[in-house]
Amino acid sequence: MKARRSELILKSKREIDLMRVSASTVSEILDELELLVVPGVTTFDLDAAAETKCRERGVTPAFKGLYGFPACLCVAVNEEVVHGIPSKKRVLRDGDIIGLDFGVVYKGWYGDHARTVLVGSVDAASQKLVEVTRTCLERAVAACGPGVRLHEIGRKVEEGAVAQGYGVVRDFVGHGVGRRLHEDPQVPNYFDAHDRQVLKSGMVICIEPMINAGTHEVRMLADDWTAVTADGMRSAHFEHTIAITDNGPEILSRSGFGAAKAVAG
Ligand code: MG
Repeated sequence: MKARRSELILKSKREIDLMRVSASTVSEILDELELLVVPGVTTFDLDAAAETKCRERGVTPAFKGLYGFPACLCVAVNEEVVHGIPSKKRVLRDGDIIGLDFGVVYKGWYGDHARTVLVGSVDAASQKLVEVTRTCLERAVAACGPGVRLHEIGRKVEEGAVAQGYGVVRDFVGHGVGRRLHEDPQVPNYFDAHDRQVLKSGMVICIEPMINAGTHEVRMLADDWTAVTADGMRSAHFEHTIAITDNGPEILSRSGFGAAKAVAG
């Protein structure tokens, strides 16, 4: 999300149960979309499949129409960082990497999840970028819990990325999530010593590192949606919806708890 401000909203256990269904559904749909990511498929095809899979499960795509975004799925191929618009003209090629960022609404609750997927056989440097980004997210999630400073998330992401000489994107950050896709707090992927916020039980947040092989700087394409790396090098993105509970962090965007297929409403 783009940097912004609102208020902190804690969720009850029942609300987290509903968000688990929502976020898990996103994971299950991305599991299925990953199987479609092969050379020759268009990003439009992936978007259409995502919409169909929402209909099958009785959930609503979260991104379509939000802030005017025209599709269900945000795609980001190679040097694209986030928020690319699916297109019939964008054909995936062997060796590409593609970020799939997807969200759904279930009974009024949002779930948000992203992963970067390899297209065919991908060079070792890109594989490493993807793996390091995934690991940065895992390390950040593991550091979460009630009483932990929010900036520990950014510290963990930044440590893992900088050690490899990668750039951590600063222009887009993670966010709280609930009855709206983007709630307080903002969740930066870099360490900010001045950020005094503390994680609390009942918070649900999206942690979403965007890590570039080169510079952290990004620029916007003329469509005003697609962010790309300023130096044209590749970028990877992973995201989970995380509930902060008394027992620690729970990744809600895991497959296995989603809305059943072929439900009516
Ligand atoms: Mg997000």
